[in-house]
Amino acid sequence: MTGQSLYSTYKRYRTLKTSVISALPIVILMPHSACNCRCVMCDIWKDNKNLKQLSEQDITGLLDSLNSFGTQQVLMSGGEALLNANFFKLCEILKRQKIKVTLLTTGLTIKKNASQILEWVDDLIVSLDGDEFLHDAIRNIPGAFNKLKEGVQHIKSINPDYRITARTVIHRLNFRNWEAIISESRAMGINQVSFLPADVSSHAFNRQMAWEEPKQHEILISEKELPELLEVVTRITANESNFKTHFIAESKEKIRDIYQYYAAFYGLNPFPFKKCNAPWVSTVIEADGNVRPCFFYDVIGNIRDQSLAEILNSKEVISFRKTLDVATNSTCMKCVCSLNLPPRMSLA
Ligand code: SF4
Ligand code: SF4
Repeated sequence: MTGQSLYSTYKRYRTLKTSVISALPIVILMPHSACNCRCVMCDIWKDNKNLKQLSEQDITGLLDSLNSFGTQQVLMSGGEALLNANFFKLCEILKRQKIKVTLLTTGLTIKKNASQILEWVDDLIVSLDGDEFLHDAIRNIPGAFNKLKEGVQHIKSINPDYRITARTVIHRLNFRNWEAIISESRAMGINQVSFLPADVSSHAFNRQMAWEEPKQHEILISEKELPELLEVVTRITANESNFKTHFIAESKEKIRDIYQYYAAFYGLNPFPFKKCNAPWVSTVIEADGNVRPCFFYDVIGNIRDQSLAEILNSKEVISFRKTLDVATNSTCMKCVCSLNLPPRMSLA
């Protein structure tokens, strides 16, 4: 979609002011509960047997709410969305409403699905964890890196302008490989790469319980490794070419925040300050229809029982938003996935 009308901007402004949702620019869907990777920092794949998926009926049932909220973008997240056999049908339903579809994928099957991706998906975000050896090791999938690379290159060979970005979670197992991740992304033709720290303390990503200490420490960068992390961050932020062209999506400050985030676990500094309005501008709908205000807060309803508009604007959920203070809430302070979308910012 190009630009946005004054009325949409007003509705977004009013939503932020009143906490009653009248505009919802972004919706995150999880079309399939299973994943085709087995990443060390995620528990989603451990529930692969307990398969859940969104149906065409689920998506059609959402359209009234999405249209009334003027939703502009649907982010297909996972699990691996491409495992849903009807995935492109779901995209088609949304695209016919002029909603932009972005797919977050492991990249393992993007080559096989290239023609439909090019037809029904506006852009791709691939998860990249390291160079070939490390990516395969973290994903627990031999050949994962090469499948991802071949997929990216195949799509680019058909349409060089098709936007493919990469997202990397930086943690104990790959922070030393950070610069290699940047160069590998460039080499395979990715447009932009984005970095965030690992979520080690929440119940999100299918954790029944927040990770116990020993599990946290597999991923959490240790206190004695922090100087090494700082050296890597310093080298990356000193390389102007990464930032001038916005090849790295974050600002230098945001990259330094990744160091600050890990240092905060040891009380060396506060958690980096963040602005987030995710529960006011977006929502998460899981593969079984459960709705959350963002990845990290409890389920607030199910689209198979109520409309999305009813769920998001129930008395309890409005009150949740009204009383949520992102700056002081302990879950928010440790959150790695904040989203801040001011009313005027277009998603075009
Ligand atoms: S981190 Fe993403 S790619 Fe890896 S297992 Fe979890 S859902 Fe799959
Ligand atoms: S900071 Fe994180 S936990 Fe808090 S509202 Fe934003 S996305 Fe949710």
